[in-house]
Amino acid sequence: MHTIGLLGGMSWESTQSYYRALNEGIKAALGGLHSAKVAMVSVDFAEIETLQHQGQWEETGELLAAAAGQVQAAGADFLLIATNTMHKVAPQIERAIDIPLLHIADATAEKLVADNITRVGLLGTRFTMEQAFYKDRLSERFGIEVVIPDAMQRDTVHRVIYEELCLGRIESASRDAYLDIIVSLREQGAQAVILGCTEIALLVSQADTDMPLYDTAAIHAARAVEWALAATIPPGTHGK
Ligand code: GLU
Repeated sequence: MHTIGLLGGMSWESTQSYYRALNEGIKAALGGLHSAKVAMVSVDFAEIETLQHQGQWEETGELLAAAAGQVQAAGADFLLIATNTMHKVAPQIERAIDIPLLHIADATAEKLVADNITRVGLLGTRFTMEQAFYKDRLSERFGIEVVIPDAMQRDTVHRVIYEELCLGRIESASRDAYLDIIVSLREQGAQAVILGCTEIALLVSQADTDMPLYDTAAIHAARAVEWALAATIPPGTHGK
């Protein structure tokens, strides 16, 4: 079994979901007392969040590149960055390491393509919903059209992530607001919705809606289990 590198803490609320999913995935595949080999570095999310909201992305990239180097030095065979948003600086992180990166948007898009989803709604931080690094990757590399909520709805989705979910607060009023937004994404022609922030599944689950939901944290972790058990680790996104 290969060792999974996990760059976590963004926020730690969702890194817990990853850790559980990785271990449950390995246990399901191998049985008995088997568990995932994981090398994890978990950052202080307050430092990252401050830099994000000041637009200091280069600095977040430096910080995460250093942390990814520690993950590699701890023996990881490949890397997961346990957040959608910080894939904005994935190229900078990749330049600091030799091990392959398993990109969260690629893992999600491959599943959408396999399920014949061609038009998808995207929920995530304002950075993920509005900036090119995520949406363009889905459309240019995978031919998937992305629809996003309107400006007021994006404010709500973003605020709930930072002021509630990343702090471990689960509020039913926020769940209702998210479900209303999912309905309006459907009205824009979305066939499914990407939970493109690794904490959203703490709030909204498939049982809450008949709209198909693609939980990026669960999909990313499941693909990592496949990589951990593969004879040869795929090349990842290096340089791409
Ligand atoms: N975990 C979230 C994501 O998947 C948001 C926190 C962050 O900014 O990293 O985007």
